[in-house]
Amino acid sequence: MKKLELHWQILISIICSIIVGILLPQSVKYISWLGTLFLNSLKMVMVPLVFSSIVVGVSNIGSAKDFGRLGAKTMFYYLTTSLIAILTGLLFVNLIQPGKGIDLGLSQSIEGLEQAQNTFGSTILNIIPTNIFQAFTEASMLSIIFFAMIFGYFITKLKVEQNITINNFFNGIFDIMMNITMLVIKFAPIGIFGIVTKVVAEQSLNGNLWNVITSLSLYMLTVVISLFFHAFFTLPLMLKLIGKISPKAHYKALSAPLLTAFSTASSNATLPLTMEAIEHKVGISKKITSFVIPLGATINMDGTALYELVAAMFITQAYGVEVSFTNQFLMVSAALLSSIGAAGIPMAGLVMMSMVLSVIGLPLEGIGLILAVDRILDMMRTTVNVYSDTVCAAIVAKSEGEHLKV
Ligand code: ASP
Repeated sequence: MKKLELHWQILISIICSIIVGILLPQSVKYISWLGTLFLNSLKMVMVPLVFSSIVVGVSNIGSAKDFGRLGAKTMFYYLTTSLIAILTGLLFVNLIQPGKGIDLGLSQSIEGLEQAQNTFGSTILNIIPTNIFQAFTEASMLSIIFFAMIFGYFITKLKVEQNITINNFFNGIFDIMMNITMLVIKFAPIGIFGIVTKVVAEQSLNGNLWNVITSLSLYMLTVVISLFFHAFFTLPLMLKLIGKISPKAHYKALSAPLLTAFSTASSNATLPLTMEAIEHKVGISKKITSFVIPLGATINMDGTALYELVAAMFITQAYGVEVSFTNQFLMVSAALLSSIGAAGIPMAGLVMMSMVLSVIGLPLEGIGLILAVDRILDMMRTTVNVYSDTVCAAIVAKSEGEHLKV
């Protein structure tokens, strides 16, 4: 019998989770550990995988000239698409005006958000770690990536003999990590069953499932339409026009990581699957995959950037605050910075929201408005975040003259 492909297994697992979550919410206590085990395994591979992949990626690039060109191209793509995503959100939120005329009450407040205010500033400063081992234990991805890039670069400066030894060593580590990762991936459908059943059951038990859907539907609709526009129009268009790649074939090759991004709401947790699909299904070289994808999972978040802007505008509309052109510009910049600074974990975007609101002097309790529907939007924006990284990898690979399988 032919084995069912992974993305079908995942899809079936999501459907089963929804049915079980709604009909048998009490069963969660017997099921959710499956999700915990799966997430733990993904976290286990994350740091060594990212570190070894970037070291290998950078050191394999060889000459510094190459590295600079690849780095510049990637950064240019990442900033441009995030900005386009934000402007798409700005357009739709101004057209639909989801917050106008709705009085949702602004009395809720969230503890701890004040502390998150300076997250972005400290994120930038902490890119250079004072102690790299601390960065490893705390999984500070930006610091790890920064250190891995320098480390990889200086491997290329070693004498030939040393270079070969160290290169072989890190290539070996990277291959081991990829193999462990692929073992973990085999368990994705079971893990996702554990995660999604828990989310569905929780929402349906506290009666939020329908409440959430009806009361904030317009706001959700705005985010969803904007995300769809970005994922099904802007990015495929770039893929077709700049990369000369069929968007349909690209989607197909990426279905497993995209569905995983949707169900885990974490770019970091999806990273191993994304790398596997990009290298083996799309056929992009290890060199580009291991540089572009981990970097993207950390700093390129088109979905999050778009969401930050729409959510902030929604809150200002609900407060009845007219946002001047200057303030809209400030919000756009803040949305861009917060998406760069947000970690690839669930709800990170919601925490970064406080930065966007404080930029224009709005009270942080406005975030209470959007808290209830965050999870479902998080799932969607994470999928767009991951998708954008893969589009970048494909475009960069094509521009470097690689022949892809899609
Ligand atoms: N969950 C998102 C991600 O991992 C980040 C966010 O909360 O927007 O990509």
